[in-house]
Amino acid sequence: MFNALVIDQVETQQQVALRQLSKQDLPAGEVLVRIAYSTLNYKDALAITGASPIVRQYPMVPGIDFSGVVEQSDHPDYQVGDQVILNGWGVGEKHWGGLAEYARVPADYLIPLPDAFSLRDAMVIGTAGYTAMLCVLALEQQGVRPESGDVLVTGAAGGVGSVAVALLAKLGYQVTAMTGRDTEAEYLKGLGALHILDRGEYSQAGRPLTKERWAGAIDVAGSHVLMNVCAAMKYRGVVAACGLAAGMDFPASMAPFILRGVRLIGVDSVMCPKNDRLQAWQRLATDLDPMVLDAVATEIPLDQVQQIVPQFLEGKIRGRLVIPMQAK
Ligand code: NDP
Repeated sequence: MFNALVIDQVETQQQVALRQLSKQDLPAGEVLVRIAYSTLNYKDALAITGASPIVRQYPMVPGIDFSGVVEQSDHPDYQVGDQVILNGWGVGEKHWGGLAEYARVPADYLIPLPDAFSLRDAMVIGTAGYTAMLCVLALEQQGVRPESGDVLVTGAAGGVGSVAVALLAKLGYQVTAMTGRDTEAEYLKGLGALHILDRGEYSQAGRPLTKERWAGAIDVAGSHVLMNVCAAMKYRGVVAACGLAAGMDFPASMAPFILRGVRLIGVDSVMCPKNDRLQAWQRLATDLDPMVLDAVATEIPLDQVQQIVPQFLEGKIRGRLVIPMQAK
């Protein structure tokens, strides 16, 4: 038997509880993984609180990420004892996920743990950090370079934002970190932000075009924040947009796109093809300062997950939350 967080539906209400499951309860899949660490992302908070319809079938073990050790494998790519990580692919939404001591998944969902990282490091990074890297790659692929000018990261004290600030700073960019929490200014400067911008400046509807400020931007907020980011991009600036912390809407004007040639690139981590994932993890191995992992991580026991997750929806989480699993 092993511990798992389980979301069930009773009539139309979600119920969440820590339960004992057996390996026979796990869904079909080629690889059985003894989970070492999981983590919490914004999407896990949406799933566990039921704030958005993330869970597609019940009962569901939430958790869009895990790292662990292969315990059984029916697939030639994975042998017993291999260290693996999983990000996304609908795990924790439609396939049982990482907030458990065991998971059974299709082999294609897994990637080998990069040599540079421990199983814990991989979950300090998690989907949030790997998405931050995908966003940095998107800026690079569109030609944004440190010499192009200042770059902006929104939601900077959160998971994606913290890793994005650290990555961009290490790569030599002049990073401005936007935050709604002035108490996090020192934390963000410690990650490499040169300037702090108060989120209030971008939270309301604004003019379609404002002073050209940013050569590149990584946005986790959407809604008015993304609109104001686009309005303040330099000529041919690039915005990598991955999140909806402020809202799923995008109340914007065409002006930045047709008058300044601004490029808005959507970034998805969930169904991202395997080669792009491997590239992102390789780049994390070379471009993320290992000291950053300590600076951004907080450990949370599995039995406190339910208490903590509402704080994501209130924008109160700093950096990354990592969950150690003690598989028996
Ligand atoms: P976090 O909760 O860790 O960070 C979100 C941050 O956004 C908060 O810490 C806060 O930072 C800021 N924020 C909160 N509310 C608002 C608001 N109303 N307006 C503007 N900013 C706000 O979440 P994650 O970093 O894990 O995820 C961030 C977003 O990215 C989420 O929407 C998530 O769903 C999305 N995401 C998307 C992925 C993809 O594949 N596309 C993958 C991973 C995440 P501060 O206080 O510093 O302003």
